[in-house]
Amino acid sequence: MAEPVKVLIIGSGPAGYTAAIYAARAGLKPVLYTGPQPGGQLTTTNDVENFPGYPDGINGTAMMVDLQKQAERFGTEIHFSVVTGVDFSKYPLKVTIDEKDEVLAESVIISTGATAKYLGLPSEQHYYNKGVSACAVCDGYFYRGKEVAVVGAGDSAAEEATYLAKLCTKVHLIVRREEMRASKIMQNRVLNTPNIEVHWNTETEEILGDDNGVHSIRVVNNKTGEKKTIALQGFFLAIGHKPNTDIFKDYIEMDETGYIKTLPGCTKTNVEGVFAVGDAADKIYRQAITAAGTGCMGALDAEKFLAAKEAMAVAH
Ligand code: NDP
Repeated sequence: MAEPVKVLIIGSGPAGYTAAIYAARAGLKPVLYTGPQPGGQLTTTNDVENFPGYPDGINGTAMMVDLQKQAERFGTEIHFSVVTGVDFSKYPLKVTIDEKDEVLAESVIISTGATAKYLGLPSEQHYYNKGVSACAVCDGYFYRGKEVAVVGAGDSAAEEATYLAKLCTKVHLIVRREEMRASKIMQNRVLNTPNIEVHWNTETEEILGDDNGVHSIRVVNNKTGEKKTIALQGFFLAIGHKPNTDIFKDYIEMDETGYIKTLPGCTKTNVEGVFAVGDAADKIYRQAITAAGTGCMGALDAEKFLAAKEAMAVAH
């Protein structure tokens, strides 16, 4: 097997590419595996208007192409393939690519991100980015002065509904049970916001629209069977995310929902030499800028780890 790579980065969202830029500029010759969705979640957004440095906003895919070029400019080796398995029980760390090739690494930065959950309606995919979104903070601004719905009843849904209530004329919160899972304080905030209407015991049957995008949703009360159509322009999913961390579960400590646990104030995981950055380790903020920030931290932590290992090898 070839020499271990110094820094192997798994994932190509803002976290992975930022880690690559920093590691490459530190002379660590990072090797990055993009994963199944090169560019990550941002490639599914239209305009990114909240990433500092782009006063006119930027298309999500264009931004990720820029990040890729910046990582390549400093010598990152990028592979458009998928890491399908790992063996972190021994050192150097072993990573399997596309279920066949094995690569050894002195350090690994996990930046595999998370995937928003969807209801599974065909109309949801059809109107994706034409009224349907899974991120209020990213896309809410495009619906200012309009009427929208948020589906979900957890802290995310409560937070997104109150966020949107400041921008939109009215927010319909679609809750499938007769209670919310969100913390009491978040629930109270929702219930005390005059332009949020909570629809209890309600499920979305269909998202309706035309060439201009979404114009309404049809919902059903799962207790009474009563159906109604709500006119609106935006439909936001807030029914949770799934971190893309399944392949690490035999080695890396995670919380009960699969988010990787890192040591406070840094990106170290329970396995020496393995660092976790971006949404795979963040269920709270989930923003491109926070992912990029932790990507930088991951590269600096890996650099420090490799330097300490080298210093030890010299001392022996
Ligand atoms: P959660 O898993 O907590 O909640 C998901 C919600 O979506 C639940 O209310 C669930 O309903 C509902 N849901 C799931 N599937 C469907 C469906 N098919 N149709 C309709 N509704 C559905 O996810 P969150 O993203 O809200 O939160 C994840 C974690 O992050 C939590 O630990 C949360 O506390 C935390 N968080 C904290 C924040 C903060 O502190 N500021 C902000 C955001 C998140 P049901 O209740 O019926 O199962």
